[in-house]
Amino acid sequence: MAKIQAPRGTHDILPPESRHWIEMERRTHELMRRWGFEEIRTPMFESEELFVRGVGQGSDIVRKEMYTFTDKGDRRLSLRPEGTASVARAAVEHGMLQPGRVLKLYYQGPMFRYDRPAAGRYRQFHQMGAEVIGSAAPVADAEIIGVFWAWLLEMGLQGLTVRLNSVGCPVCRPAYRERLRDFLRPKLEWLCGDCKERFEKNPMRILDCKVPGCQAEIVGAPSTLDSLGEECRTHFEEVQACLQAAGIRFEIDPGLVRGLDYYTKTAFEVHHAGLGAQSAVGGGGRYDGLVEEVGGGSSPGVGFSTGLERILLALEADGVAELAPPARPDWFVATVNSDARDEALRLVTALRRRGAAEMDLSGASLKSQFKQADRLGAAKVIVLGPREIERGVAMVRDMATHQENEVPLKELYTGGSESA
Ligand code: AMP
Repeated sequence: MAKIQAPRGTHDILPPESRHWIEMERRTHELMRRWGFEEIRTPMFESEELFVRGVGQGSDIVRKEMYTFTDKGDRRLSLRPEGTASVARAAVEHGMLQPGRVLKLYYQGPMFRYDRPAAGRYRQFHQMGAEVIGSAAPVADAEIIGVFWAWLLEMGLQGLTVRLNSVGCPVCRPAYRERLRDFLRPKLEWLCGDCKERFEKNPMRILDCKVPGCQAEIVGAPSTLDSLGEECRTHFEEVQACLQAAGIRFEIDPGLVRGLDYYTKTAFEVHHAGLGAQSAVGGGGRYDGLVEEVGGGSSPGVGFSTGLERILLALEADGVAELAPPARPDWFVATVNSDARDEALRLVTALRRRGAAEMDLSGASLKSQFKQADRLGAAKVIVLGPREIERGVAMVRDMATHQENEVPLKELYTGGSESA
């Protein structure tokens, strides 16, 4: 029969790579605990409406990249393309947003976008992200950029740059959009088809277009920073002051606009020198209108998200080969022949309460059991034979020093001896 392959744009996470994923997740939980963020897990599919309203009708994600389907109950559902809209939806649905309370949440899991697969770009990929909801203060923006920065360092990454911008708010943005349209109008015929469409609906997205022809045309475009209203300008200055106080270096990038429509004021990305064209390891920003957009009261928020596949690529580029070393068994329980099997099973079960223990599962010869133990990097091999069992002892070989000792079985069971 023909082989069935994983769908295009998806990837299996196999051992030993899966070890790195477990380690990334472990470090994430540990770091988030220290920063006071709690985990939230939301469904992998939501009503399509959530993303249309939350991420925005004009965004590439909603226009072109969502996996949307109708279920047997005639509901329009979408696989989640990102995490923030779901977090906002859940926070509203469960009444988590109380006046005067600041929510700090993080999530990790698969996201789905019907994108053209390329290096570091998948149709099912994994994001980790965090949100601070319920504060309009610039220090909340710094908390999000700070936790992202700390997380990246915790993963062992180097060569990172924070790029910062302000995309304004619904009050100052219309004037900016007009200025941008005035700048782009004479160039319209040279822009790509997508950008021609964006010109009316969402001209700021043109600044983010990756088509080289469009990138050439936007050189010299007016900056959002020149059009900020008083409130947005003060906020931007305060965010910078907070980042300086927190010791986080950043560059101002007036061309930085993010692909999702919900951002207001702060927008940021972190780039990694070793990643080439897809150099953003993650980003985020403030979304003061999102909670209202998904049906809640007015509740300002700010968040980031990062792509875990890209983090692993960046680590590879940095030469960090091993996020987590292979787990080596403390003991390999070998048997001289099948008469020792039951004792081996009993002993391996007891040893596994104290550490990592392995035994042969294939009926291999003693010689090949030693080979297995060597391949696994076991620290000690315990050899059980019928005669030794009768005498209540086993031979224990230290694989590093090659020293062999006879050890009473009782000590092996209880861990009562150094030699075991
Ligand atoms: P976004 O939600 O578009 O701001 O993306 C945030 C981060 O998720 C990016 O910086 C990437 O690291 C990652 N990311 C986004 N889209 C993909 C994709 N198709 N494949 C892999 N990673 C992605």
